[in-house]
Amino acid sequence: MQSSLISKIEKARRYAEEGDRVTFANFTAHFRGEHNDYIVSYENGKLHCTCDFFAGWGLCSHTMATHKMLGCMLPKESLPLQAVG
Ligand SMILES: [Zn+2]
Repeated sequence: MQSSLISKIEKARRYAEEGDRVTFANFTAHFRGEHNDYIVSYENGKLHCTCDFFAGWGLCSHTMATHKMLGCMLPKESLPLQAVG
């Protein structure tokens, strides 16, 4: 294998352990809930969910769980409740 490719692989391994290098700009994801599937999306710095609870409260277990899963790859402000997370 070429040495330049080897150095890229080593760099990728190091980068992958430093999650704060990546911040999502936007995404759409399928979330498998206990009773239904929902679509969780992230756009303009905010998480959104298609479930009824989110429609009333502006947050839900799906957006909170997504925020926890992605950790530092989403800014704290993407959740309306700062205490969660
Ligand atoms: Zn939801």
